Amino acid sequence: MKRILGIAAAGCLAVLALSMDRGENHMFAGEKKPSEKIEIFDPVSGKLEKLERIILDEAEWKKRLPPDRCYILRSKGTERPFGNAFEKNKQAGLYSCAACETALFRSSAKFDSGTGWPSFWEPIAPQNVVFEEDFSLFHKRVEVLCARCRGHLGHVFDDGPPPTGKRYCMNSGAMRFEAKEEKPVS
Ligand SMILES: [Zn+2]
Repeated sequence: MKRILGIAAAGCLAVLALSMDRGENHMFAGEKKPSEKIEIFDPVSGKLEKLERIILDEAEWKKRLPPDRCYILRSKGTERPFGNAFEKNKQAGLYSCAACETALFRSSAKFDSGTGWPSFWEPIAPQNVVFEEDFSLFHKRVEVLCARCRGHLGHVFDDGPPPTGKRYCMNSGAMRFEAKEEKPVS
């Protein structure tokens, strides 16, 4: 009983420690449901690939991500507008999830929304992001998450430019950027 109370008090860190006690300290310590496969678009192959979801304890994410990225991706935080890494980035290339490297947006879908956050009118593929309703600011918003690791990326709004009319308002800290020449989309 004492041990159970101790675990509850110390949160998921203790749960992770307990699982390591049992000899489960393998490469993906803390992973829960390794068998769930989803389709993710891979821009290198140009195809949908069947990949396992990445599901980790929050304590494991804290070990893997620096605090500023963890705050956004795992605690659904929002970085300050203006002056963040990609707001003014005009290079051609690919934006991917900072937690699991899933491709998220092409620079060709980026536009200057004037909001101070990097904004896109569409994701690289509908399979690579998922949506959740978010009522945290007393009105309904649509949260955008990475489909593979369910990291928080930002929100999507209906005031974007053509052709979709969507504005994917993203946190720079949730993404990595790789500069590259883009192949024309056929
Ligand atoms: Zn991810």
